Amino acid sequence: MTPDHTQSELRRLPGVDAFVQRPEAAAWEAAYGRGPVVEALREVLDAVRADILSGGAYPGDEVLAERVAERLATLAAPTLVPVINAAGVVLHTNLGRAPLSAAVLEAMRGAGQGYSNLEYDLEAGQRGSRYVHAEALLCRLTGAEAALLVNNNAGAVLLALSALARGRGVIISRGQLVEIGGGFRIPEVMAQSGARLVEVGTTNRTYVRDYAAAIDDDTAALMRVHTSNYRIRGFTAQPELAEMVALAREHDLLVIDDLGSGTLLDTARYGLAHEPTVQESVAGGADLVTFSGDKLLGGPQAGIIVGKAEHVARLRRFPLTRALRVDKTTIAGIQTNLLHYLKGEAEREIPVWRMISAPAEEIGARAEVLLARLGGAGAGCEIIPGTSVVGGGSLPDEGLPTRLIAVPGPAETLAEALRRGRPAVVGRIEDGRLLLDLRTVLPEDEEPLVVRLRDLLEG
Ligand SMILES: *Cc1c(COP(=O)(O)O)cnc(C)c1O
Repeated sequence: MTPDHTQSELRRLPGVDAFVQRPEAAAWEAAYGRGPVVEALREVLDAVRADILSGGAYPGDEVLAERVAERLATLAAPTLVPVINAAGVVLHTNLGRAPLSAAVLEAMRGAGQGYSNLEYDLEAGQRGSRYVHAEALLCRLTGAEAALLVNNNAGAVLLALSALARGRGVIISRGQLVEIGGGFRIPEVMAQSGARLVEVGTTNRTYVRDYAAAIDDDTAALMRVHTSNYRIRGFTAQPELAEMVALAREHDLLVIDDLGSGTLLDTARYGLAHEPTVQESVAGGADLVTFSGDKLLGGPQAGIIVGKAEHVARLRRFPLTRALRVDKTTIAGIQTNLLHYLKGEAEREIPVWRMISAPAEEIGARAEVLLARLGGAGAGCEIIPGTSVVGGGSLPDEGLPTRLIAVPGPAETLAEALRRGRPAVVGRIEDGRLLLDLRTVLPEDEEPLVVRLRDLLEG
């Protein structure tokens, strides 16, 4: 292209002021504000100018407008988007763990919308504590003397070790040196807390006498960690909590019990292995029990610590607590979620328990209705028996019998298309087939799922 031509192309570039007079600019400004519109326009103009200087032509005002619109849409697009979980993993950590009940969402909305007595004592008219809020309910449900909410269970464990065992020994079985997803590893958390890890026993077998032999003047606590996401099978032994508690009492030591998921309901009722409940740990004499708010409890993300009042009081005063504190919306959500347990309606109201308790026949019936709604598009789909899992680092060996929709066609390609569309759909691939498990699909997500599947299978 000749220099003359380049110059004439450059002259066709509109000025920013002229361009924002275009009719679509008013809508952009209303949606994004003037600053981002002008900035997007400048960036697009700069790119076009550079292109002309390297021999390109001016693409025209219409194309320019399209590029500005695209840039603005990208800028404003949320990175967090809804996903339909058809993978059959109830507590899918990558997909945000527990979906919340309607009442919990309403409580969180209420707490977020206005002011509250978060840290204000309305009777006394003076500063109060945010740490009192869910305590009475937690104590009532678990039998503990005291309770404390923090940001998540990783924070709860770090806090307990930092506040109560810093600079001293904490004895733990070699079979319980867990790594949870996301880089939470017990030995590293221990190091971070300043406590000294004293590992005893072997990977498969640890006895209470192993703990006893390791106790010295410097020991602060015995710790038990639930091996959430793995099982050691075969020739194995781990001491009962009661034995650890008895030993700790003799030596005036603490027992810290990290339950991981922590459940208030007995998972054995649903044909699963029995997960230790929080009530059992408290009754068994653990001084502090830590667990998550958003695993089997089925509420918003939080770490929950329950136990003896004197130890919880020390945690409350410890400076790290301030760095791990929970938001008002979380407190409202946890409190309302706990009420579902108090009222005996957890299985009906809390989505994760509704999903866990759903029988395979019910899921099969939903699958049939869904295929009927797909009509001709679903012709090649089949309903087959399969297994859902609880996930979230709990019950690794356990499955819940389910019915799966097997989608015909190239599994990887189909799965990718489902992931990339909106709302995104995540299924799972087994034996080269794309499988969809309605156990984890919320009832209100069935219609959008039908639409996505119809597009996929007809397209
Ligand atoms: C999941 C888990 C944690 C971490 O809990 P978060 O709430 O995810 O921070 C800690 N310990 C155990 C044993 C767990 O299973």
